Amino acid sequence: MRSITTLSLQYAHRFYGFKGEAQYLHGHTGELTIEVEDTVESGVNMVFPCNEIQKTAWEVLKNFDHALILREDDPLLPAILDVYEKQGIRNGAPTNKMKGPAFETDLAKAYPECRLVVTKETMTVEGMIKIVYDLLKDKLNIAKLSFTSGVNKASEEYEVSGTKDRCPLCGIALNEKGVCPKCGYKKA
Ligand SMILES: [Zn+2]
Ligand SMILES: [Zn+2]
Repeated sequence: MRSITTLSLQYAHRFYGFKGEAQYLHGHTGELTIEVEDTVESGVNMVFPCNEIQKTAWEVLKNFDHALILREDDPLLPAILDVYEKQGIRNGAPTNKMKGPAFETDLAKAYPECRLVVTKETMTVEGMIKIVYDLLKDKLNIAKLSFTSGVNKASEEYEVSGTKDRCPLCGIALNEKGVCPKCGYKKA
């Protein structure tokens, strides 16, 4: 069965080199739907608690929220960094608190200190799905991702193999020692 959750991200981006309006800098509220597939953990009668899916995803994805997302070859990138530098906010500001870990994958690199994500490919809804899967595939049994932004929507389905050991008391994934990181339950 699947547990399904949705979270929203507000961001600015543009399609560098695209012959259309989207080549200009603009913003969206994007909606990401994550479908996690596994057996139903009988203790809690859930596949996975949806708020825990959100928490796991948000820890990484908050880097995209209220962020600027630019392709690595976009000439706006050095220009923006130069402005941030001159303004003294390139390496952070006291009001920038919503920072996730500074991840780097083949597809995207986050600069949480200045709310910037640099991508290898244009950040279309399709591009975002590739980035998100890469970031979360080891943490969650993702069966499907959908991303909506304005009138654009894309989805991709993934083969889920195996099952994750989850806590029969609170439903979250047990760590490698078979212990629940939330309530301390230990697998017998
Ligand atoms: Zn757009
Ligand atoms: Zn637990």
